[in-house]
Amino acid sequence: MQTTPLLLKGGSAVLPGGIRNCDILCEGGRVTRISDAIEAAGAGVFDAAGKTLGPGFIDVHVHGGGGHSFFTRDAARVAAYADWAPRNGVTAFLISTLGSDASATREMLEALRPVVGREGGAEPLGFHLEGPFINPLRQGAFPREMLRNPVPGEFESFQEAASGHIRQVTLAPELPGALDLIHAVRESGAVAAMGHTDATVLEARRGFEAGIRHVTHLFNAMRPIHQREGGPIVAALLDDIVTCELICDGAHVDPELLRLAYRFLGPERTVVVTDNLHIAGTSTFSGTFAGEAIEVSGAKAVRGDGTIVGSVATMDQHFRNVIQYLEVDLRKAFRMCAGNPARIAEASRKGRLEPGMDADIVVLDEGLRVEATICRGQVAWRREG
Ligand SMILES: [Zn+2]
Repeated sequence: MQTTPLLLKGGSAVLPGGIRNCDILCEGGRVTRISDAIEAAGAGVFDAAGKTLGPGFIDVHVHGGGGHSFFTRDAARVAAYADWAPRNGVTAFLISTLGSDASATREMLEALRPVVGREGGAEPLGFHLEGPFINPLRQGAFPREMLRNPVPGEFESFQEAASGHIRQVTLAPELPGALDLIHAVRESGAVAAMGHTDATVLEARRGFEAGIRHVTHLFNAMRPIHQREGGPIVAALLDDIVTCELICDGAHVDPELLRLAYRFLGPERTVVVTDNLHIAGTSTFSGTFAGEAIEVSGAKAVRGDGTIVGSVATMDQHFRNVIQYLEVDLRKAFRMCAGNPARIAEASRKGRLEPGMDADIVVLDEGLRVEATICRGQVAWRREG
C-alpha cells in the first residue's frame, strides 16, 4: 500500500515493555520505528505531546454501532460501521451476527465476506457467529426460532459460505452433538466459545476438554452460580485454559462482580467486549433487535419485558470503566482491550504497539478520551477543535 509515512511525535506510548515518551514512525501501514527523536523527511507529523498512545482497541463481540447493524446482507453497512468505529478508538473487530435460519446465515456470510480485511477504517477481521447452536433456556435477546441443536455439517456449510473467515463460534456445550461441533469448529481454525449456556460445571469442563477455549460474555445469558451447582461461570473462572469476555458497561455485570471475576482471570484471561448494538454511540433511543422493539435505558438497551439485549456504551467507555472498576494500570487495560482480543481473532499483526505490527494506534487525552485514531498508519479519525 502506497501511503505517506506518518510520524507521531512526543507522546507517552504504552509499549509491551513499559510506558515511555518517544516518537513512532508508521510506514506502509506498519509501525517501523519506535525511539527518541526520529527524523523522517516527507512524513506527515502528528504532534502527540501530552497524549497517551496505545494499540487500537479490538472488539470481538459487536453487532454494530453508529446506526449500522451487522444483522444485514448489505456489506456497505459493515463498511459504514468500520468508518465510524475509529471515533471510539476501535481499529479492528469481528462481525458478530447470525441469520434467522441456516440458509439466511449462509447468504449473510456470503454477502458480507468481501468486506473482511477492508482497509481505511477499523478492519473487519472475520466473523463471530453467535449461535445458532445455543440453549433456548439462555437465549438472551435471540428469538427461540433462531436457535437449535447442533446439526452435523451445518457449521461446515457456514464456514464455507464465509470462505473460512469465521473466527469465533458461540455455542452451548450441553446440547446434544455439541462436542462434535466443537471439534468441527476447532478443525476449521475458529475459536469455540461457550455462551448462551445452561451447562453444569461438569458439562462445561467436558466442553473445555473437547476444545472450548473462550467464554462469550461471562455472567450474561448463562446459568448463574448456585451454591450446589457452580455452572459455567465457576467452571470458567477456575480453568486457566479459557479466556473470558466481560461486558464492562457497568450495566450488564455489576462492577463488584467484574472485580471478583478479575481476581481469577487476571489481565491474561480477560477480554473486554462491548456487545454493542447498531444504536450504540447514536442519539437514537429506540430501535429493533431481531425483530423486537428495544429501548435504551442508561448504558444498556432493553426489550419490553426488561431483557437486556446489548450494550450501547462504546469501547472507549469500556476502556475507562476497566481502569476505574478493576483498578488496573494502562498496560493491563490495553492488554484486555487490544492484546487479548487480537489473540482470539488470530490477528497476530495487531494488538501490540511495536515495530513490525500494523500501525493501529489510539491517541488518548488526559481524561483518556479518544483524541485521534490511526488505522494502518493513516489518521482515520481526529477530534475536532
Ligand atoms: Zn452478542
